[in-house]
Amino acid sequence: MNVYDTERMLDVMAPHGYEMTEAPDDADVVVLNTCHIREKAADKVYSDIGRIRQIKKARPETREEMVVAVAGCVAQAEGDEIMRRAPVVDMVFGPQAYHRLPDMVKAAKQKHDKGESVRLLDTDFAVDEKFEALDAGPRQQSAAAFLTVQEGCDKFCSFCVVPYTRGAEYSRSVSKVLEEAERLVAQGVVEVTLLGQNVNAYHGETATGESWDLARLIEALADIRGLERIRYTTSHPRDMTDALINAHRDVDKLMPYLHLPVQAGSDRILKEMNRHHTAASYRDIIDRLRAVCPDIAISGDFIVGFPGESDAEFAETLQLVRDVGYAQAYSFKYSPRPGTPAATMASQVDEEVKAARLALLQDELNSQQLAFNTRTVGQVMAVLLERYGKQPGQLVGRSPYMQAIHVDTEDAGLAQTYFGKIVNVEVTSAAPHSIKGRIVQSSNV
Ligand code: SAH
Ligand code: SF4
Repeated sequence: MNVYDTERMLDVMAPHGYEMTEAPDDADVVVLNTCHIREKAADKVYSDIGRIRQIKKARPETREEMVVAVAGCVAQAEGDEIMRRAPVVDMVFGPQAYHRLPDMVKAAKQKHDKGESVRLLDTDFAVDEKFEALDAGPRQQSAAAFLTVQEGCDKFCSFCVVPYTRGAEYSRSVSKVLEEAERLVAQGVVEVTLLGQNVNAYHGETATGESWDLARLIEALADIRGLERIRYTTSHPRDMTDALINAHRDVDKLMPYLHLPVQAGSDRILKEMNRHHTAASYRDIIDRLRAVCPDIAISGDFIVGFPGESDAEFAETLQLVRDVGYAQAYSFKYSPRPGTPAATMASQVDEEVKAARLALLQDELNSQQLAFNTRTVGQVMAVLLERYGKQPGQLVGRSPYMQAIHVDTEDAGLAQTYFGKIVNVEVTSAAPHSIKGRIVQSSNV
């Protein structure tokens, strides 16, 4: 979502003559778009601010003064503290304010010109206003694009900051989403990934006042000519409806991949996490998905060392992983986040215990991922070759199952022909985090 947000910031700045630079040294404006989900991500912001301060200091006096901004969820959660701790920062704004970036930059520049210090703070929660302001539409260079359909969260898992930093759940209207998709397709996009912190809680209004869920939205998107592939992320088990499960059977354009975080395998821990699902209800969803779409690749998120998690409870997480079988996954040590209920729970788990559990879990997940990748060797699959690789003639894409795939055409001209196209690729080898393949024939797309 931060990648999407950063692209939208570039969109709003472009009419004012700004474009992306490769290095902060050249920049007139530096925006740190931040993540607050775990402590490590938040800490990085302060070390990055330090680095930017050095760069700014080293610049010749003759150059226009650099404007330094902190955006995103750390800004939302710790705006006052950033302002206090980091005088080099001119402005701080939350995820719902970035459409006001050009005005803020202009105000900051005027203050710099007068030799005054700038202290701008904008952490309002006007999400509908933001989307309205962004409706001019994004630029798109790649054949695969993100499309935000939903933001925020009302679920309040006890470990998570998202409801506090991104605000309450909000769904964009059906017509706005369809218009944005049409516009992307007109710009050459063939794959969209629908984004939301709780994307499957989507309930967008239609022009006639109906409320559509995500399954209905996906069906409508699938009717758009030229749009070939649809993905969505991130989903919550509670909102995995029959209609959405069945969409994996009925909608050809919906890719056979689902990222469905479970967090833990112990029902006691899930309850303490306020997840409102059990390990059994999660397993049941996976079974129903596989019944309608046998090759669906499953991904997940896991937290180890939630307060009070015993060895036996952690073992239940490992067992769930073995039972489900993941194509890939993300796993984290529990990180106490200020303001969340779990942060002040008694019986916080020791760092060493968390590290040991994470290592065990990641061993299992990594071997499952390698096994999954290895099973695809020899298969022919339609792959969207969305960018150039590091080697000449190499193209990189995602398999239908979200695996990163490298394709060597060994010919720069051929690579150009296939760039941005969906092509039939035979998988020739597998590595832990990616696969390799060769083009067998271009598909009819
Ligand atoms: N909305 C999604 C996840 C959003 S956050 C969902 O409900 O599943 C992305 C992931 O970060 C979470 O799934 C969780 O595994 C992890 N995460 C969130 N807060 C965390 C914390 N305090 N410590 C460690 N991991 C955390
Ligand atoms: Fe965070 Fe996801 Fe839980 Fe919402 S549902 S509180 S985003 S983990």
